[in-house]
Amino acid sequence: MPMLDTATLPAFQTKLFIGGQFVDAASGKTFDVLNPHDNSVLAQVAEGDREDIDRAVAAARKALPVWRAMSATQRGELIYKLADAIERDRDTLALTETLDTGHPIRDTHNLDIFRTVQTFRYFAGIADKHEGRVIPVDTGFLNYVMRVPVGVVGLVVPWNFPLMFTSWKMGPALAAGNTLVLKPAELTPLSTMRVAELAAEVGFPEGVINVVPGFGATAGQALAEHMDVDKIGFTGSTATGRKVVEASAGNLKRVQLELGGKGANIVWDDANIDAAVNGSAFAIFHNQGQACIAGSRIILHETIRDEFLDKFLNLTRSIKLGDPRDPATEMGPLTSRMHQEKVLSYVKIAHQEGSEILAGGKAPEGETFAKGCYVEPTVVTAQPQDRVCHEEVFGPFAAVSTFSREEEVLEMANATPYGLGGGLWTNDLNRAHRMARGMDTGMVWINCYKRFHPGSPFGGVKDSGYGREMGFFAMDEFTEPKSVWLNVDAQLPPFYRR
Ligand code: NAD
Repeated sequence: MPMLDTATLPAFQTKLFIGGQFVDAASGKTFDVLNPHDNSVLAQVAEGDREDIDRAVAAARKALPVWRAMSATQRGELIYKLADAIERDRDTLALTETLDTGHPIRDTHNLDIFRTVQTFRYFAGIADKHEGRVIPVDTGFLNYVMRVPVGVVGLVVPWNFPLMFTSWKMGPALAAGNTLVLKPAELTPLSTMRVAELAAEVGFPEGVINVVPGFGATAGQALAEHMDVDKIGFTGSTATGRKVVEASAGNLKRVQLELGGKGANIVWDDANIDAAVNGSAFAIFHNQGQACIAGSRIILHETIRDEFLDKFLNLTRSIKLGDPRDPATEMGPLTSRMHQEKVLSYVKIAHQEGSEILAGGKAPEGETFAKGCYVEPTVVTAQPQDRVCHEEVFGPFAAVSTFSREEEVLEMANATPYGLGGGLWTNDLNRAHRMARGMDTGMVWINCYKRFHPGSPFGGVKDSGYGREMGFFAMDEFTEPKSVWLNVDAQLPPFYRR
């Protein structure tokens, strides 16, 4: 497959999508969206702010009765159509995502698009399968619990998997009967804008889906504070998550938070080392390490440290960095200059804390990389108390430490403020299950890493947030239980006769 030609792309949609129309921002302002491969301007996108959020929320509120009046099956059918349209346009959408985020085209094509379509299809199918309950209450009464949509939901997504997270948030919100306002990350709005176009094309009623690109401190904050928004589904950093919680207090809106992580990836002496090496590289280097569930702390049993590192460093050094449009590229640039600088600053921190830089540790040299936000895949040694073992770097940066005993490694695994995901490589089943129970995380992977599926709950504990995405768990998050009582033939107690 040759390098993909950007000229094949249709023009990017750059306007806000409000009430079924593509419109300019009320202020008329736009902002530049950059290609992290060379920092060229890809598009000038309308910059939504408070007034635009007000318009979008009003449109979503107006559409709510229309959307709720449709049967769950009809809602599901529209979501299926959206999934089909995304699949049809997979080539252009994958290229859009690659240009906007820097993800290698082989990943956007094979993973991001596939997972986005799979997620929308999953929630299309679940729409009419999220049942209520009948509760066995006192004789003579019927009590049933229906699940009703929360209402108008605000969805805020980060820049690391913009298309995929659009499906994770929109899928269950729509299937459950909510209308929505989604704010993409300011760095990467383009694929979500295309989804808005496809939603209009497949016939979503106007106002059900609204997309307002803009900055976090303005548009995002306005959405989180909005008195007519019933829930915020947020994915992003822990610091911003705290602001969202504070902003939600005005009308006590529901909040669901998917925040940062610092995954422990533990390799035992009895593990299949080759599988662990390969899986650990995927865990930390896929998507340039810009993943909340990245296995950023590799913790090795002391007896296999040398063998593992020998193979892992060989693999690390052989990863092919390059223009993300090239199908041979395995690692592209980070998504922004600011983020590249943040990741490189952690190399300095590691150095100051006495770490040895085993691989990478700098921006790659050469013409291909001269203007972009690249960082070499980096591996450093670390002690459990080091900052690089506690703080989320969110880049291709693995901190390697060692352990000898199970209690010790469990303590190490749990010694961060985060609790999103973690994994272990071992052939001892009992130990694997003991560890899985003991790890303070929302997700544990055994002899694999970073697996997820639209049916399996995704989310964390501690500073990684609360609530769960995916599956019936997400459907519960996007609905409220409503309890209905009916007196079928109950004898009422005496005071009713007074
Ligand atoms: P961020 O918190 O800076 O931004 C996330 C989104 O929030 C963006 O759309 C941004 O514009 C918006 N935002 C910023 N300030 C806001 C405010 N005051 N009110 C409302 N919205 C606001 O995060 P980021 O740097 O874009 O993303 C990286 C972070 O996201 C990492 O910490 C990563 O671990 C986390 N993340 C978590 C998950 C998960 O599922 N747990 C998944 C992906 C990323």
